[in-house]
Amino acid sequence: MKYFIQTYGCQMNYSDSERITTILHKMGYTKTDGFQDADLIILNTCSVKQKAEDRIYGLGEIFAPMKKKNPNLKIGITGCMIREASGIRNEVKHDVFRIMPTIDFVFQIKDLMQLPEILHKLHHTEGAEEVKDLCSYFHIDPTVTNLAQVFIPISSGCNNFCSYCIVPYARGREECRPMADILDEVKKAAKREAKEINLVGQNVNTYKPDDTDPESGESPFAQLLRKIDTVEGVDRIRFYTVHPKDMTDDVINLYGELKSMVPHIHLPIQSGSATVLKRMNRHYTPDRLRELVQKLRARLPDMSISTDIIVGFCGETEEEFMESCNLIEELKIDLIYVSKYSERKGTLASEKYKDDVPAEVKKDRFFRITELMKNISHEYNQQFKGEKVKILVERIRKGYADGKTPEFKMARFKADDPKLIGKYVTIKVDKPMEWCLEGKAV
Ligand code: SF4
Repeated sequence: MKYFIQTYGCQMNYSDSERITTILHKMGYTKTDGFQDADLIILNTCSVKQKAEDRIYGLGEIFAPMKKKNPNLKIGITGCMIREASGIRNEVKHDVFRIMPTIDFVFQIKDLMQLPEILHKLHHTEGAEEVKDLCSYFHIDPTVTNLAQVFIPISSGCNNFCSYCIVPYARGREECRPMADILDEVKKAAKREAKEINLVGQNVNTYKPDDTDPESGESPFAQLLRKIDTVEGVDRIRFYTVHPKDMTDDVINLYGELKSMVPHIHLPIQSGSATVLKRMNRHYTPDRLRELVQKLRARLPDMSISTDIIVGFCGETEEEFMESCNLIEELKIDLIYVSKYSERKGTLASEKYKDDVPAEVKKDRFFRITELMKNISHEYNQQFKGEKVKILVERIRKGYADGKTPEFKMARFKADDPKLIGKYVTIKVDKPMEWCLEGKAV
């Protein structure tokens, strides 16, 4: 039987899909490249905006004729859209079944170990018993698709309850993975020639497994980074997501000390306004952000900093929005993932505040903050003109090979050989643009 997994959203979801894939392979499913000839479709969803959920609901219509053609076809949903019980349509109640009658089952990612049982009931597949031995989500060896850049979960779930966010309801409370397990996965990846290790968790700074060394004097996350840095073959470590309230000095101090800590951090600030941050339940102030950036740049003066910003959050005034713009300019943040606020039912914000910023105002703020970022990024990128940068090639597209520099800058050069994917190439930059550095391989 053939399966197809469609993944949406963040790196965590892509990492989860690699674990789902392992289970399916163990149960005898084989991969196919699209919906059309699949007997099993799993949608690993994102719920960060209503638009993302609507896109999934829109698929309901195309599934009906597919099921007519292939009565054996079963369709399931996981990811952040599933915030209630996992199970099969006639066994559990879930809104998704009402809105999409073509869906057969749903499962929360924390219930991944129930998937074999669900599939056994629906498809009478064998192997459900064997897969049970995998014990838990973290014990599943992922089926890695990109050997050069791997995403390794260090925790799952979140205890923070930022007022706009649905994740704690979908993934549950934070669960940390033993350090020894993570190191095993890193070593396996390094043996397969992984060059970049991306550690993922909802809040990497609160990582606190049972096998922490209490004598070390460092936070568990700093201990983990030190250990990974010693694994042979690991060149670059990145991590997502940092929480500004929990970022510790010992982690900051590893920049410039550990060889694999790249000169880039993704520091999601969400807003530069103290009053908006309070409504968002983020538990830090703009001054705390200033202090963090100052400490980071004291370690690495040219460090690149990217961030997430939500524009048009409940009650955001023009003044509050301008506080975000001013802070971004002040801190020289050179890459922003901007999103327009979208109310998620069940979150604290949806119960406490009104989604009262008009759509056209959100759109205007989105545009203005993006323009601001373009200017900062263009200015930052000029420092690379005439310089050599080492990129890890990610893809070949339209006659170019492109990948990221250690600073997380997209860079490209003319090439069409797919064998370059996953390899380091040094280029001399002759054209630094706002989104990309272009140059020639040297
Ligand atoms: S830290 Fe906040 S934004 Fe991040 S997953 Fe947890 S609740 Fe959501």
